[in-house]
Amino acid sequence: MRAKMRLTDNTTVGFVGVGNMGQPMVSNLVKAGWRVAIYDTDMDRTAAFASRIGCGFVTSAAELGDACDVVILMLPDGKIVRRVVLGADGSDSLLPGLSQGATIIDMSSSAPTGTRELGAELDAKGIDMVDAPVSGGVKGAVAGTLAIMVGGSERAAQDIDPILAAMGRRFHVGPLGTGHAVKVLNNYVSAAGLAATAEALLVARRFGVETETLIDVLNASTGRNNSTENKFKQYVLNEAYNSGFSLDLMVKDLTLAMEVADACGVEAQLGHSCLNLWREAQSWTGRNADHTELARFVFKDDAGSVSPDAQA
Ligand code: NAD
Repeated sequence: MRAKMRLTDNTTVGFVGVGNMGQPMVSNLVKAGWRVAIYDTDMDRTAAFASRIGCGFVTSAAELGDACDVVILMLPDGKIVRRVVLGADGSDSLLPGLSQGATIIDMSSSAPTGTRELGAELDAKGIDMVDAPVSGGVKGAVAGTLAIMVGGSERAAQDIDPILAAMGRRFHVGPLGTGHAVKVLNNYVSAAGLAATAEALLVARRFGVETETLIDVLNASTGRNNSTENKFKQYVLNEAYNSGFSLDLMVKDLTLAMEVADACGVEAQLGHSCLNLWREAQSWTGRNADHTELARFVFKDDAGSVSPDAQA
């Protein structure tokens, strides 16, 4: 029988992927008193971050697997997670160092089906896997108020709960993979809200309503959503476009949401047109765009202006 992972005062939590989200999440783990060791392919940035916040730093995934019984991954997608966990053609990976009873927690927004496949392969090696993707953005990561969607066995979810508690509010949503399914469906709803708001702003502006006025009214009315409340004044109308969540990652999440819909035999007409709109915005904006630049794409035909108000 598999040895159960036990969290003790000596537990070192491994963390792979210390980017926009990973950094504040690691900071909160350290603040909560966890001993943390981190690994990221961007070694210079990661070493500097580790010395700034006072956590461990290793230079390979294998070393991290060796040092930790529980490893969190916060990487761009599930394919990268799979490669870092299992390796490909002998590449550096966590697996050689991991002991029986270790737990892998994938907090990235990964493909739900890929998560189930990886979980089954790890299970055969005596390693537990839990998916625990998050919502709340960089702000929520900094504040430690992320919504964490946990997929996995009841026991595994309970075992790791004290670690996740340092980063936000946990929702155990079902067996392995369901956390990732809920996450991409959440981002579909969020992406649709942002797109609908951008289109409504453009129409309102052309009809003679100031954009700020429309946002204020939406926020007091039934059209209110996370984008009207937390994105348009903060990142769009001021043309800052620096929310910390890339447009590429949103397109990835929408693509995954529509893959889940297809697999479940749901037509999702709105979802597929939403995905097409976001893909067009991705080609138009180019690489490294912030996801709020979807609005810039929607506004683009207004005499070359980036914001509807700018050409008033
Ligand atoms: P990011 O690009 O800022 O960070 C990813 C990190 O992974 C980088 O530091 C990169 O160097 C590292 N990395 C890439 N490949 C690696 C490898 N093979 N080995 C080790 N490190 C590697 O991305 P992010 O915005 O922090 O997002 C991470 C995940 O969280 C994504 O799945 C994203 O969809 C999800 N997410 C992001 C947000 C957000 O607001 N940014 C919100 C919720 C969920």
